Amino acid sequence: MKMKIRNLKNGYQTMEVNAFECPKCSSLVFSRTRHDYRWCPCKTIAVDGGLEYSRVVYQGKMPESKKINVPATKDQLHEDWNNHHDKFGIIVAAHDTIGKDHV
Ligand SMILES: [Zn+2]
Repeated sequence: MKMKIRNLKNGYQTMEVNAFECPKCSSLVFSRTRHDYRWCPCKTIAVDGGLEYSRVVYQGKMPESKKINVPATKDQLHEDWNNHHDKFGIIVAAHDTIGKDHV
């Protein structure tokens, strides 16, 4: 559950977060902030607790935890949740270009 904030040359930041992969729909979900309760589209798994401490709720098979890079700061993730922009917090399987592990 380690969190890294990297400052890239152009000032563009990415942050590593722990996301969970739904065994059914393959979407990746993560909790943006402490009170963000995030469901995957098929409602099999949900994550809450924020970035430092994420808790996953699931039915059946335990979802796999994956580290992903999100192009936002902690504040931006909070804003996204607070203002209901919902730009972050979920990566639907169909367009998973951001985030996947590069290791
Ligand atoms: Zn799902």
